[in-house]
Amino acid sequence: MLGGMQDFELRVPRLIDHVAREAGTREIVSHWADGSETRTDWAGIARDARKLSQALERLGVKPGERVATLAMNHSHHLVAWYGTIGMGGVIHTINPRLFEDQLAYIANHAEDRVLLYDAAFQPIVDKLKSQWTSIDHYVVIDGTGEGSFAALIDAEDGDYAWVEGDERAPCMLCYTSGTTGNPKGVLYTHRSTILHAMMVVAPSVLAMSSRSVLLPVVPMFHAAAWGTPFAAAIAGAKLVFSAVNDPAVLCDLMNRERVTISSGVPTVWLALFAHIDATGDAPRFLELATVGGSAAPRAMIDRLMAMGVEVKHLWGMTETSPVATAGSPPEEWADWSHERRLDFLTKQGQIPFGVELRVTDDAGAELPRDGESSGRLHVRGPWVVKRYFGADADAIDADGWFDTGDVAVIHPDGTMQITDRSKDVIKSGGEWISSVELENAAVGCPGVAEAAAIGVYHPRWDERPLLLVVRKVGSTVTPAEIVAHLTDHVAKWWLPDAIEFVEELPHTATGKLLKTALRERFKDYRLV
Ligand code: ADP
Repeated sequence: MLGGMQDFELRVPRLIDHVAREAGTREIVSHWADGSETRTDWAGIARDARKLSQALERLGVKPGERVATLAMNHSHHLVAWYGTIGMGGVIHTINPRLFEDQLAYIANHAEDRVLLYDAAFQPIVDKLKSQWTSIDHYVVIDGTGEGSFAALIDAEDGDYAWVEGDERAPCMLCYTSGTTGNPKGVLYTHRSTILHAMMVVAPSVLAMSSRSVLLPVVPMFHAAAWGTPFAAAIAGAKLVFSAVNDPAVLCDLMNRERVTISSGVPTVWLALFAHIDATGDAPRFLELATVGGSAAPRAMIDRLMAMGVEVKHLWGMTETSPVATAGSPPEEWADWSHERRLDFLTKQGQIPFGVELRVTDDAGAELPRDGESSGRLHVRGPWVVKRYFGADADAIDADGWFDTGDVAVIHPDGTMQITDRSKDVIKSGGEWISSVELENAAVGCPGVAEAAAIGVYHPRWDERPLLLVVRKVGSTVTPAEIVAHLTDHVAKWWLPDAIEFVEELPHTATGKLLKTALRERFKDYRLV
């Protein structure tokens, strides 16, 4: 027997209809690459998205086909998302910071039909056009005149009804950065996107409401910008976009637009701190900073809290839409010391409804949630990948578990803590040293701007840690001082066998430490 309630397919166009109707005048502000700023509102986004849907149909795009973007964060990118999805298409956000052969591979693998791109990426387009085999139409998003985004949508009247369909139909495609092998595509459904966005809005995650002003620093080309462009539509929140990641611009925008929530990877917050130190100019209205993508160091959380900003630490991956845990204070918070609060927030947070996590040993047996048993982190749920785009086998086991490649412990209170990525763990004499914990401890040492720990060959222990350190400007911190600091924070046998100072560390397209490049560079390093 079925129940007596309405079938209401969870389709993404319902989000834009809802926000245009209920919060149509709430603004969407864009700071563009050339420094100019434009303002529209949710009703304007909905109108332009309808026009884009019409235009894409005119160009011959069929439901299910992919429309790609190579674009930073701005209102036209938002229109591209909703307009493509509205006509039944799949928006494929390409990460412009990937290597050229990856960019060539991704667009061909996705069989993109149209590419909407920022003028700043013209050199990429010029270089790769001859290698891209499926793209028929190239549209400059921030240009004017013939062939531009404005010309494309201005030719339409906006009298358009969204394409209806199954909530399990695809709407969005994101490729993982592919630190090993070819990038893999995760094909989100309307249903997964909406369920994920509803979770992101919740008080224990981004706590978004109609009074929120959100500036997502996390790029819309990566991991669906943590669901914020969809979550903001549910909440009826104002959005502020910046196509440039300069901390001076971000800070100025945050203050002029009274931004209350922002989201970014740790390097974003580090850059903001450097800006504050140099100018004294700090965000004045910011209430919540969400940090994810890599572990938020304790010192970073401490500093944000000292600024009067609440910190939420998020964990997730492209394969999990991406948000899968978020750190939210428990009832006893008011009684806790500052140190205890920091201990709590440094971990990756709690598990929201819709996500299930478990930790297993190498043989696949589930480990207890005792805060000590560290193993492979598995995840399952309605916004977790089942099969990569174009793959011929599922990426999950028979019980639906996806192996994240992360190493974690789960604490008795349900808090998940990432201890490392399985490929970054330093294996010393059969025991595991967490590279992440070493790095986090090292950046807490005065004078250290950034640190990376990698395993290097050791004749007796197989691998021992080598710590690579970027000093803060003007700092003369010595290896002995760093070791002295680390001694208070990590087990003695974890202490690095060597410390090398470097000018800078390599990062992935999304600002994470590129450990593969470091391992390659130091592969012949000999510990003396
Ligand atoms: P990739 O970098 O391979 O494209 P993603 O961008 O999807 O993949 O990143 C996912 C990975 O980032 C996770 O598996 C995890 O290793 C790391 N990560 C994300 N958030 C956190 C966090 N809060 N703490 C530690 N690691 C994190």
